Amino acid sequence: MADLYVQQDMLLPVVPIRDGVVFPGTEMILTFGRARSVSAIEAAQTTGKRVIFVMQKNTNINDPVPSDLYTVGTMGEIVQMMKNEGEINALVRGLTKVEIEAFETVDPFFVAKAKEVVDLSIDDDEMKALSNHLVSELRQAVKIGKTIDFLTFMNIMSGSVPLTLSYQLASILDLKPRERQQLLELPFVKDRLNQETQYLSHEIKILEIEQNIATKTQEKFDKNVKEQVLRERIKTIEKELGDDDDDKDIKELRDKIKKAGMPDEVRTKADKELTRLAKMSQYNPETSYVRSYLETLVELPWSVSSANNVHVSDAEAVLNTDHYGLAKIKERILEYLSVMKLRTQASQEEDEKTHKEEKSGKQKGKSPTILCFVGPPGVGKTSIGKSIARSIGRKFVKMSLGGIRDEAEIRGHRRTYVGALPGRIIQGIKQAGTKNPVFMLDEIDKVGTDFRGDPSAALLEALDPEQNYAFADHYLDVAFDLSDVFFITTCNVLDTIPAALRDRLEIIHFPGYTEEEKFHIVKDFLFEKQRIMHGIPKDTIEMSDAALYELIRRYTREAGVRNLERETSAIFRKVARKIADNDASKKKTFSIGHGDIPKYLGPYKFSSILAEKKDEVGMSTGMAWTEAGGEILFIEVALMPGRAGLTLTGQLGDVMKESAQAALSYVRSRYKKFGLADNFFQKLDVHIHVPEGAVPKDGPSAGAAIGTALVSALTKIPVKRAVAMTGEITLRGRVLEIGGVKEKVIAAHRAGIKTILLPKNNKKDLEDIPKSVTKDLTFIFAEHMDDVLQVALVKSPLTKK
Ligand code: ADP
Repeated sequence: MADLYVQQDMLLPVVPIRDGVVFPGTEMILTFGRARSVSAIEAAQTTGKRVIFVMQKNTNINDPVPSDLYTVGTMGEIVQMMKNEGEINALVRGLTKVEIEAFETVDPFFVAKAKEVVDLSIDDDEMKALSNHLVSELRQAVKIGKTIDFLTFMNIMSGSVPLTLSYQLASILDLKPRERQQLLELPFVKDRLNQETQYLSHEIKILEIEQNIATKTQEKFDKNVKEQVLRERIKTIEKELGDDDDDKDIKELRDKIKKAGMPDEVRTKADKELTRLAKMSQYNPETSYVRSYLETLVELPWSVSSANNVHVSDAEAVLNTDHYGLAKIKERILEYLSVMKLRTQASQEEDEKTHKEEKSGKQKGKSPTILCFVGPPGVGKTSIGKSIARSIGRKFVKMSLGGIRDEAEIRGHRRTYVGALPGRIIQGIKQAGTKNPVFMLDEIDKVGTDFRGDPSAALLEALDPEQNYAFADHYLDVAFDLSDVFFITTCNVLDTIPAALRDRLEIIHFPGYTEEEKFHIVKDFLFEKQRIMHGIPKDTIEMSDAALYELIRRYTREAGVRNLERETSAIFRKVARKIADNDASKKKTFSIGHGDIPKYLGPYKFSSILAEKKDEVGMSTGMAWTEAGGEILFIEVALMPGRAGLTLTGQLGDVMKESAQAALSYVRSRYKKFGLADNFFQKLDVHIHVPEGAVPKDGPSAGAAIGTALVSALTKIPVKRAVAMTGEITLRGRVLEIGGVKEKVIAAHRAGIKTILLPKNNKKDLEDIPKSVTKDLTFIFAEHMDDVLQVALVKSPLTKK
């Protein structure tokens, strides 16, 4: 097909173009600055304004030589030109495609010999369809955002022959210079059109994606604008109506800050934050943080206190009205209050002397130390705390610290933290509304430590009278003076409290109540309290003493009186129901006797009391100490034919398992003394079980009881039921000192035990036990298991001494 080229030699100036192609049949405005191009165009004035435009192979070359240029270009016409400071702006029109054959001259501009190249075009139906398709695609592209010169577009739309169309499209498609050059060089029009179809549909795809994104962005933008406009409008309307919320808020806050009685440093901080808030746009998400911070600041009782007048005798009266017994505890508390009173007076006098000149300096705390109430649940720790507050006219707040592991719970989160809040101490103060409340921190033994910092260190800082006058909560960011707060801590056990904290505490033990004490508490306090709570008229209900004892013995088994109170409340609920149901019987009185309780509360919850049980073989009574107070526990040993196995069941801790093993070793090592065969254990399996154990018991103190049950099982001599024992034993049978004697003895007494076996070294602990308990009991102090067995079994198992 080479002969289809129509050749026509020409000699014309050549103008290199950096990065574009002038296509035949198209027009464009170009700017020429390079000297060689300018001279070429000027020279063209003498060649009928004709020049050859060719593209450089590399855009970056400033002064190209002939080999830097493509050989296929376009012969064109300079339609119009304008010279401006050495540059030429020209409207050029492409005429025909040419191929340069040789460069004749290089300076001052290129002159080349070229021949026209004619494209091959067969205008068949396919070509027509292709052209139509391209035109409609172009229309579509323009519709979805393609920008092209309006005149070119109109030209294309008005219908061009395929050849012209192919060049027009080549000039307006979004192409790289190289791609344009390739299109120019294609010898067949159909190929060019086909190639352009691909380019165009790719372009449309991109346009569609862009349009999609643009639509979404636009929608979002529109919505934002709309919202903003509406908000502004609301603001204007509110202003018109005279209630500009924003300003009102700020005004209110400013008033509150003025009235809050803040120390200077805090006031400065609050003012600063308020100014910041006032300046903030209402759409700034920070406004709500700043606002709640300021609200916390103004709500804190910076200078609100309850009157500080402690009258020890009045306090004593209040404590006595609210609580039965607890004489020693009340005494300790009154002593504490007296010291507090004297210290406060002393510090006031000192203040007056120094004319308060060093107010901001280190102040001595007014509380001597921090009280810590230790004892099982329901023994009146909280309720004594409330009484203390009442007796000295202060507010009472209680915060539970159980399960806290994060320092921030005590000290707050920094405000940069999303959802930041003050810590529990500051929250409690806010709740109290005064800066000198009685603040009860519950369950300090349940404070844990992990990677989030040590809460007990923060706690210590809050409690320590030496440093709590400037307690730093992370959220507040300003110091709060806690030195007037009367802190009381409570816990069930002492050993999990970190030593540094424990050192600061003045420990007051609540040992739990005896049966008789419980009787008085329910008769004189709980009964009346529940009657009022249930709205039952005075004198409509009456409970006999025997009924109360039955309630205590058969429906509760605890160190405190929580369940007792709950059961009483259950009775009152039922009575209330009866009164409410039956109006006519309003006058009716309810008198609840000994036999009536099951009608109200159902069958006994604790059916067997010890006194009713028989002496049995292989079953001994031990005493345990748990967080819920003292408890008695029964140890059962069963023997069966087997091969030297030991099985332990029931809720036993590891230490208790070890003491079971120690007890077994002790018995085996003394088989002769018990009249057993030397290989007795080879033919036996021993099963030790501790039933009725809701609370896991641990500690070595069950050794003596396990040993006793074992010996009883092996020798078939029954254990005396009314004897309870406690003590750790060694392999040789020595009985060692144990802890928790007071709680254990009270629990055993409560359970109806008559004789208690204790390690000899625990004799000293008896002093702490109430007389009302000790008077009913016989204590036997043992140094060795042999002594224990002599007393605990109905007859001595020792055949040889
Ligand atoms: P704790 O804080 O030790 O768990 P609470 O203070 O909650 O126990 O006491 C439980 C209930 O028993 C309260 O209603 C309390 O008033 C009552 N209570 C406890 N001890 C006495 C007492 N000695 N005299 C009168 N009521 C008591």
